[in-house]
Amino acid sequence: MMAQYLALKQQAEGCLLFYRMGDFFELFFEDAKIAASVLDIALTSRGEHGGAPIPMCGVPVHSAEGYLARLIRAGCRVAIAEQTETPEEARKRAGSKALVARDIVRFVTAGTLTEDALLEPRRANVLAAVCTVRGSVGIAACDISTGRMELEECMPEVLPAALARLGATELVVAEDSALDLPEAAERPARAFDSQRGADRLMALHGVATLDGFGAFSRAMLAAAAGLIDYLEHVGRGNLPLLLPPVVREAGAFMAMDEATRASLEILSASGGGRKGSLIEAIDRCVTSAGARLLAEDLAAPLTDLGAIRARLELVSWLHDDPLLRGDLRAVLRAAPDVGRALGRIVAGRGSPRDLGQLRDGLGEAQRVQAILTARVERPALADSLIPALGGHGALIDLFARALVPAPPTERASGGFIAAGYDAALDALRDAAGNSRRAIAALEARYREETGTPSLKIRHNGVLGYFIEVPARHADRLMQPDSGFTHRQTMAGAVRFNALALHEEASRIAEAGGHALAAEEAHFEDLTARAVAAREAIAATAAALARIDVAAGQAERAAEGGWCLPHLSDDTALSIRGGRHPVVEAALAARGERFVANDCALSPRDRLWLIGGPNMGGKSTFLRQNALIVILAQAGGFVPAEAAEIGIVDRLFSRVGAADNLARGRSTFMVEMVETAAILAQAGERSFVILDEVGRGTSTYDGLALAWAVAEAVHEVNRSRCLFATHYHELARLAETCEALSLHHVRAREWKGDLVLLHELAEGPADKSYGLAVARLAGVPAPVVKRAKSVLDRLEKGRAATGGLAAGLDDLPLFAAAIEAAEEKVDALREKLASIDIDSLSPRAALDLLYDLKREL
Ligand code: ADP
Repeated sequence: MMAQYLALKQQAEGCLLFYRMGDFFELFFEDAKIAASVLDIALTSRGEHGGAPIPMCGVPVHSAEGYLARLIRAGCRVAIAEQTETPEEARKRAGSKALVARDIVRFVTAGTLTEDALLEPRRANVLAAVCTVRGSVGIAACDISTGRMELEECMPEVLPAALARLGATELVVAEDSALDLPEAAERPARAFDSQRGADRLMALHGVATLDGFGAFSRAMLAAAAGLIDYLEHVGRGNLPLLLPPVVREAGAFMAMDEATRASLEILSASGGGRKGSLIEAIDRCVTSAGARLLAEDLAAPLTDLGAIRARLELVSWLHDDPLLRGDLRAVLRAAPDVGRALGRIVAGRGSPRDLGQLRDGLGEAQRVQAILTARVERPALADSLIPALGGHGALIDLFARALVPAPPTERASGGFIAAGYDAALDALRDAAGNSRRAIAALEARYREETGTPSLKIRHNGVLGYFIEVPARHADRLMQPDSGFTHRQTMAGAVRFNALALHEEASRIAEAGGHALAAEEAHFEDLTARAVAAREAIAATAAALARIDVAAGQAERAAEGGWCLPHLSDDTALSIRGGRHPVVEAALAARGERFVANDCALSPRDRLWLIGGPNMGGKSTFLRQNALIVILAQAGGFVPAEAAEIGIVDRLFSRVGAADNLARGRSTFMVEMVETAAILAQAGERSFVILDEVGRGTSTYDGLALAWAVAEAVHEVNRSRCLFATHYHELARLAETCEALSLHHVRAREWKGDLVLLHELAEGPADKSYGLAVARLAGVPAPVVKRAKSVLDRLEKGRAATGGLAAGLDDLPLFAAAIEAAEEKVDALREKLASIDIDSLSPRAALDLLYDLKREL
């Protein structure tokens, strides 16, 4: 057995091996240790291998799903080895000591799940494959639970941002790609072949060219090849649902890097969960598919004005018509998750319940279609969704006739095909039913014949049907001529068989067996019909999700008094009465009111420097404006009174100084790496929020860096920018930077207490209120008092020396300083370029070297 185990373990390629033994999946060796610790189950041992006992643990087959879910969540991958023959078959094949044949039937990995119990309903489950082709990166991503597949190409430096957007639960990478992806599973390089990718996709979708789906680069196709190869590998040759691939154009979406996403807490809060995230504050979808699409929208806001307006128009239509919205949401609420049911069916893991969900979901889609078509005036997006909502009449009708109202998840015991669908099946069921009635009649007859009113006909899995009487009445039935044959003596009862009972029981078993076979055949047939219509069904699921998202956004907007943003191609960002949806909700829960604030950036005033006390609301203001941009470009209303937004191509956020010790970098290092990325990538159409740049280092360093960064963003990047800082000295930037203005969050000291007004006002902050905030935070009074006397000293010193910013008066302007440096370098460069090395004597070369050195 160990030899068989070890051979399978070899095939499992690093996955934990679930080795089926009877009613258990057993794990051995290292696998057992890992599983025992993740699952918190007992680690035992068995036999010997190489002189040592073999560590072992096991999980019952019937509850394996729950254990699998925990292992997957802990980052494990599992190979399932099932028995592929019964012990009888094994004995027949190879004698009494034969080992039952086993084989790996499936790999369970985070990215290839389809089971409801293992998936999060409101989150897509993405598997991504990555490779490099001639220096650029191809990414193929799919969600096999719904079949969506997307291909894109990017440069290696923006791969982290692309992966952050995808949020893949599993990553595979070509082993030769030289990409730094420690969590990814490596796959052979030859699997990532672009020609093979193209061939596989064409074969998969039955087309002679991929042109109809889009223009795919070699890197994209190579990644697709790797993805399909991996899916085939884990499915042991079976491919799951894959819809035609869609190209993701880099410029079609607002770029956000990993740090930006994390700091804005778009899909998950800093703690990790959904609680406290943007999506939690705005998600009013009534279907899981809608919630998944909303997450996708927020992860990838659009940059195309037309596309954004189309979404907004639909939301606005539903916002202005609460009755329509209510009708649609009521229907949607009843609709099952069609996309995921289809995913399971195509993957060969479908159940009768999944077929029932298709029937019901497609039926609800027809209802949604009817509600929409009944309206005379509709937005263009609604019009374009309407066709996809219908067209399944024949399928719905077939499934309605074929299936019982609530089909079971278990298909082996039948009972899911409706009466009246198949006359032969009905006859078999009748026969079984008649026999059951005949058995009930037999019970009455035997009671009378034997004079034993306590006689019963019973059934169990081992004996089938049998007659049971209390022990004291058994003698009569034991008589040789009684017509009963003894089967089993129990404590207090004796069991018998009889010819008539045996005949009826056989009839039931036979009819039952045939009925099960007939149901199974119907199941296969219905499944095939669904598979044949998979693209149309997936399109219906997608249309339902889009309507749910729009109706949910409209609902949220109505609930919070949000406004329809106005988007344009210019570079203004003007928000009146903006609010932070998450902070506002948190305050509301405590019965407090959120103070709305305006933001008005324009080409003439594109950098706002915001000062004011800690806890005054600076970070909140910065983030709320970034979130409003995301919401608007995702195609939703925004928490403001009015919003004019010039499309943002890239959004950058550097908020807070979160330690990233896991990566071995100090807070300050992380801050600088992220700041460097912003300075390298932000442009005129970008929006940058910078919170307390330079906080992570000494005062002088920090001020100097903050100063230089603010200047660079103003002069070079020329992005729209909100810059929060506690360095008063930065206010002097306003003297030289013409598109920079000063703002502060207001605070007041009242009877010795600090009152934070959370209100944004123009002009520099008057003072920092640091000590007042410390007192507010509960720092003991003597400490605050001592700090006050230290502060007085410092301030006196500052008055005498000119303070921290003394000496900045004659600082040249940013651009002038850079140009001066560049000029010198250029002179040297020119000289170097003009040297004709071949015509120089050794002596002349040496002189020249001295010259150059002197000049440097
Ligand atoms: P800062 O960045 O200036 O230190 P924060 O933005 O972190 O301040 O805000 C601190 C706290 O103040 C928030 O957690 C919130 O409770 C409250 N707050 C911030 N902005 C507002 C606002 N506009 N209205 C009401 N309360 C606010």
